Amino acid sequence: MGMVFVTGGSRGIGRAVCTAFARTGRDVAFCYSRDEDGARETVRQIEREGVGALSLRADVSDESAVKAMFSSLFGIEILVNNAGIALFEQIQSTTSDMWRRVFAVNVDGAFFCTREVIPKFLRRGGGCIVNISSVWGEVGASCEAAYSASKAALIGFTKAAAKELAPSGIRVNCVSCGIIDTDMNARLSDREREEFLSAVPCGRVGTAEEVAAAAVFLAEHRYVTGEVLRVDGGLL
Ligand code: NAP
Repeated sequence: MGMVFVTGGSRGIGRAVCTAFARTGRDVAFCYSRDEDGARETVRQIEREGVGALSLRADVSDESAVKAMFSSLFGIEILVNNAGIALFEQIQSTTSDMWRRVFAVNVDGAFFCTREVIPKFLRRGGGCIVNISSVWGEVGASCEAAYSASKAALIGFTKAAAKELAPSGIRVNCVSCGIIDTDMNARLSDREREEFLSAVPCGRVGTAEEVAAAAVFLAEHRYVTGEVLRVDGGLL
């Protein structure tokens, strides 16, 4: 079995993805942008599963940092493009810098990592990519235009890459998450949370572990590619 590489593994969904893959017996490497304590905790959780762990500090929106990071990584079998940032802003108050930052992390980051991993997969005779998108990329969210557009781009990227890379034995899939209990949603007031939840048939937010299980499913099902798997409690 090869290694798994996860972007944004220092907390939230990324950490759960790291530990879920560690449980399958694979070594896990991940990157993060700032949270060193969080990264150390993720390393502890991976090692607790009896596999190797490696954490690297690198901003996925930085093309040369991503190149340098991948040049030090060998034996990758699965890439999970999870790193992402949210932006709650009305369109008329979204600056071009805000807009570009959201796209730089959420879209450019996945593109840079995918581009670097392809030659490694080709040398191995195949590989697999799982992108972490959002239901807002499918239906749009009010006051989250930049975020929704970036996540829609990630879905389009997934589908195009799946077609382009399938003949080379590389599968590309995507998890479309609903409302998941992580730091990203910590800004929600109790009232906003209640409002969101009233639209979720399952009646609760999802857990990072539930998203991670979907990522493992997509990575391990060899006849699934170009798929957008919703983990949203029935929201859409
Ligand atoms: P989170 O708790 O805020 O964690 C984000 C992770 O991404 C952290 O590990 C963070 O590292 C890392 N990161 C952020 N910017 C980065 C950069 N430029 N370079 C490298 N790493 C970076 O968020 P989450 O809820 O787990 O979200 C994970 C993914 O799921 C995102 O793509 C998000 O859009 C998607 N998603 C989440 C939800 C939800 O409801 N939570 C719903 C739909 C989709 P640091 O800790 O070092 O900053």
